[in-house]
Amino acid sequence: MKLLFLSTPVGPLGSGLGGGVELTLLNLAMAMLGRGYELHVVAPAGSVAAQLSILEVGGNLQLTAQTQQRTDPIVLPPDSVLAAMWDLARQKQTQYDLLVNFAYDWLPFYLTPFFKRPIAHLVSMGSLTDAMDAVITQVVEQFPGTIGMHSRAQAETFPFADRCRCLGNGFDLSAYQFCAQPSEAFAWVGRIAPEKGLEDAVLAAKRAAVPLQIFGVIQDEAYWQQINQDHPDAPITYQGFLPTVKLQQALGQCRALLMTPHWLEAFGNVAIEAMACGVPVIAYRRGGPAEIVQDGKTGWLVEPDHIAGLVTAIERIDQIDRLACRRHVEAVYSLAAMGDRVDAWFQDVIHHY
Ligand code: UDP
Repeated sequence: MKLLFLSTPVGPLGSGLGGGVELTLLNLAMAMLGRGYELHVVAPAGSVAAQLSILEVGGNLQLTAQTQQRTDPIVLPPDSVLAAMWDLARQKQTQYDLLVNFAYDWLPFYLTPFFKRPIAHLVSMGSLTDAMDAVITQVVEQFPGTIGMHSRAQAETFPFADRCRCLGNGFDLSAYQFCAQPSEAFAWVGRIAPEKGLEDAVLAAKRAAVPLQIFGVIQDEAYWQQINQDHPDAPITYQGFLPTVKLQQALGQCRALLMTPHWLEAFGNVAIEAMACGVPVIAYRRGGPAEIVQDGKTGWLVEPDHIAGLVTAIERIDQIDRLACRRHVEAVYSLAAMGDRVDAWFQDVIHHY
């Protein structure tokens, strides 16, 4: 069986601009290679993923969907990398049994009926724009079974929730070391952009008087500057965007991960990565994190957008058993468990179309 993965067009693999999709694609690729699939990845030029065979495509990157308003028109820049990636897919499609789309973008959904080979779409975010909802609905209707999501909460933001495959996510847990004895610091990990709500974590750390380490790519420089201006005395340290091997080392030393997104987080890879290191998660009770975190067992779920709830959870963090966090992800979020779910999905799509 041969698979062609089509990556996100918002950034090269390894840049961090693609957010969780980058790691999701890498993990899924490893899982499928491990099962004997042959696999190539089409991705923007400059992509780096040592173990994968990448077909690099040049062109201008796509705008991120999370910066768009609900009724915004569909936008493609001139010399679009997304268009070029799908042109390459069109030319090469007959060499593959299945194409897998990782882009949260209109074009791949629109093009689906024009392709000879089946396309499975792994949707990485909740509903954001009317144009996307409409085009995904068309695919659901014409090609039932080809839409995958990460969480129930994510699926339920769309009008076709009951017709999606809910796949969770999976990680190479051998890449994450368990750390039993943390330092004093708490962690926040993610793209630094308004929808991720970093300012709430900064405020909570300030009020609870605990150090906060921040990891991730600065996607919105003005937003980052504003946080620093608003909280010049906050006990925060920016640690940069780290590759997984270094991220897990530093993250493992932290007492808990704070997840404070203002949007409906479709899944939240960083929650699993933290727990894999034995780090409990304090998250708003909304979206993917509310399905991942077991309140009182692997972390605390708090009322969305309430700083006081975060502070209380920070003060109660020692009640969480770090080993229980690691055990839980081993049981549910391993690469093997995700591989089983996705393999079954791919087989269903290949046999049906
Ligand atoms: N990440 C990373 N290094 C960092 C900070 C973040 O590799 O220093 C990665 C992290 O491993 C995760 C992704 O960035 O896979 C963030 O994904 P998540 O699903 O949490 O949120 P998204 O960005 O997709 O909204």
